[in-house]
Amino acid sequence: MNKIQAMLDAIIVSVNIAVLLWLFVFDQNSDKVVLLLNDKISMASLITDVIIYAWINVWAFSTRTIEPPLHHRVIVAGTLVFVITDFIYYYIYFYSDYKPNSWVDGAYVIAFSLMAASAVLKGKVKKEKPDLIPVKAKKRVCCKLGVELFILFVPVVVLIFKRNEIEYFVLLVMALLVYYVLINFTQKSLFQEKLLELEKKNVLELEKKVKERTEEITKLLNTDFVTGLYNRRYFEARLSKSLKNLRQDELISLLYIELNKSKSIKYLYGKDTAEKLLKNVSEALYQIVSKNGGFIATYGDDTFAVKIKGYDAEAVAEKIAMEIIDRCNELFFVDNHGIRVTLNIGTSCYPRDTLDENNLIKNADAAMTQARNKGFNRVQGYSDKIGKITDNSHMIEVKLKKVVFDKEFVLYYQPQVYCKDGSLSGFETLIRWFEGGTNFIPPLDFIPLAEENGIIVPLGYWIIENAAKQYALWKEKTGHDYRIAVNVSSKQLVEVDFVDRLEAILKKYDIKPELFEVEITETIQIESSINIQETLKELKKLGVSIAIDDFGTGYSSLYYLKNIPADRIKIAKELIDNVESDFYSKAIIQMVISVAKMKGNKVIAEGVETKEQWECLQKLDCDEIQGYYFAKPMPAGDIEEKWIKKEK
Ligand code: C2E
Ligand code: CA
Repeated sequence: MNKIQAMLDAIIVSVNIAVLLWLFVFDQNSDKVVLLLNDKISMASLITDVIIYAWINVWAFSTRTIEPPLHHRVIVAGTLVFVITDFIYYYIYFYSDYKPNSWVDGAYVIAFSLMAASAVLKGKVKKEKPDLIPVKAKKRVCCKLGVELFILFVPVVVLIFKRNEIEYFVLLVMALLVYYVLINFTQKSLFQEKLLELEKKNVLELEKKVKERTEEITKLLNTDFVTGLYNRRYFEARLSKSLKNLRQDELISLLYIELNKSKSIKYLYGKDTAEKLLKNVSEALYQIVSKNGGFIATYGDDTFAVKIKGYDAEAVAEKIAMEIIDRCNELFFVDNHGIRVTLNIGTSCYPRDTLDENNLIKNADAAMTQARNKGFNRVQGYSDKIGKITDNSHMIEVKLKKVVFDKEFVLYYQPQVYCKDGSLSGFETLIRWFEGGTNFIPPLDFIPLAEENGIIVPLGYWIIENAAKQYALWKEKTGHDYRIAVNVSSKQLVEVDFVDRLEAILKKYDIKPELFEVEITETIQIESSINIQETLKELKKLGVSIAIDDFGTGYSSLYYLKNIPADRIKIAKELIDNVESDFYSKAIIQMVISVAKMKGNKVIAEGVETKEQWECLQKLDCDEIQGYYFAKPMPAGDIEEKWIKKEK
C-alpha cells in the first residue's frame, strides 16, 4: 500500500507542477518551451526548482505517519519560500522585467534566514530525542485530510492568478478529488496494515511473556522449595518417560533415600538450621548422583529418589549408594554446628524387580524400610522376600488398626537372673499378639508399625497398666519384691504427661518406683530430643529405674551413656552370641561393663542361650543375665508357679 500511496503522491505532484509550469512559466505557449530549452542555465535552474518542489511535496506526504521536528519544518518552509521565489524570479527574468533589490530579493533573504534558523534550532535539539517522532495512531485519522491539503496550494494560486483559465483550476480540482478519494482508501489500508502490524507485535510480545511466565510456573511446579532439586511430580514424569524410551537390555535402577533424624534435628537446632542442613545434604547428594550420570529429586520432606538409566544401571546405583554412605561418615557444617547425618537407602531395578512402573518406587521404599530396620546408613536392595514382608506389614497394619487390646494382646514375662548364681532378680514384660485368638504375630512385626502410626501410645499405657496390675496380684499372693521391666518406645517418652500417668499407675497398684523399670532402646531420638531428655530426668526424679536396651548395636557409643541418666545397661544379644568366639565382642562387653561400673550402673546381658555364655559373662563380672538358657518369655501364671513361688 505504501508504494501505491507514493505513486499517487508522485502523480498529483507531477500534475500540479506541470500545470504550474504550463500556466505560469510557458504561458500556454509551446514556443516558450522551445525557448527555455535553448536557455540551458535557466532550464537547469528551473528543473532544480521543480525537483525541490516535488521533494517538498513528497516530504510533506511522508509526514503522514511521523511528526517532523521543528527544525525540519523550518528548513522545509525556507526551501519552499526559496523555490517559489526562484520560480517567480525566473518568470520575471524570462519576461525581462526583473529589477534588482525588488521584493524578490527580500523573499530570497527570508528563505535563507529560515534555513539558517533551522540550523540553529537543530543545534538545540536534545541528542537523545529521535529526529522523527511517530504520530499517534489515534491522532492520524486517515479519512480526514491532513498534509494532502498542501497540494491545494497550486489550484489556489491558479484561481488567484489565472482566473481566466478556469478549466485548469477545474482540472486540478478534479484531479485532487480523485487523488483524495484514492488516498483515503490507501491511507485506510495503510492504517489497518499498521494496526495489524502493531497487533502482531503486541501478540508476539504477549506470547513471549506468556512463555516466560509458563516456564517460571512450570519450574516452580517442578522444583522443591527447600532443596531446589526437582520434586516428586517431575521425578515421576521423568521416570515414566525413561521407561517408555528404554532400549532393549537397558535397565533403570532407583534409589530411595531417607534421612533418619530430620525431626530431631529440627527440634534440636531449629527450623532454619534444619533447612540449611537439608539443602547441604541435597547438594552433596546431587554432586554424587550427577557425577555418576544419575538424576536426583526430592521425593518427600526428608526423602530423595534417584534414577539411573543404562546397561550397567545396577552397578552405578550401588556405586552411588556407597559414595553417599561414605559422605555421611563426615559431618555437615551448618551455622557453626557439625551435624552428623544418617540415612538409609533402598534400591530397586526395572525390569528385574517389577514390570510395573508404580511398583518401582514402592519396592525401593520397601527395601529402604528394611534397611532402616537394620540400623543407620544401611543399603538394601529389593527382593521378593522384602516384597512379602512389605505386603505382610500392610496386612498387619490394617489388623492393628482394628484390634481390641484386651481381646488379642497378652503380656508374657521373661525372668532375669543374677549372673553369679542364677537366682531370680526380676522380669521383662513382653507383649504377645494372638490375632483372632490364634494367629501369633511377633512383636518385631507389629511394634515398629505401631510406632509409626501412633498406636504405640495407647498400647504402651495398656502394657504398663496391665504389667503393674499383674505385679500387684503376684505381690498380693506371694509378697515378692522382684523388679519388673516394661519396654517403652521413644514415641511414648515424648508424650508430655507420660511421667504423670506412670506415677498414677504406680500409686494405683502400690508399686515402689525403684522396682519398676522402663527399658528404652538407644536411638538418636533419645539423645537429641529435648522432650525425651526432660522425661528421663522426671523419671529419675520419680525414682523409676531406667535401662538402656540393646546396648552395643545401632547408634550407640559409650559416650552416649554420659547424657542418659541410666541405671542399667542391657547388652544386646548380638554381642552375647559371640562372647566366647569373637575377641572384639568380648572386648566390647568388657569395656561396657567397666564403664558402667565406674558410673555406678548395673549391666545385664540379653539372649544368653548357653552355659558357656553364662560362664563367660560371670568371668567378665556381669551383674545379671536374661535368656532362653534360663527361661523363655512365659505367661503370668507360669511365672508365678515356676519362678516366684519356687524362689520364695
Ligand atoms: P527386646 O526388648 O530386645 O526384647 C528381647 C527379645 O529377645 C524378646 O523378643 C525376647 O523374647 C527375646 N529373647 C530373650 N532371650 C532370648 C534368647 O535367649 N534367645 C533369643 N533368640 N531371643 C531371646 P520378643 O518378645 O519377640 O520381642 C522383640 C522385641 O519387640 C523386643 O526386643 C522389643 O523391642 C519389642 N517388644 C516386645 N514387647 C514389647 C512391649 O511390650 N513394648 C514395646 N514397646 N516393645 C516390645
Ligand atoms: Ca527389652
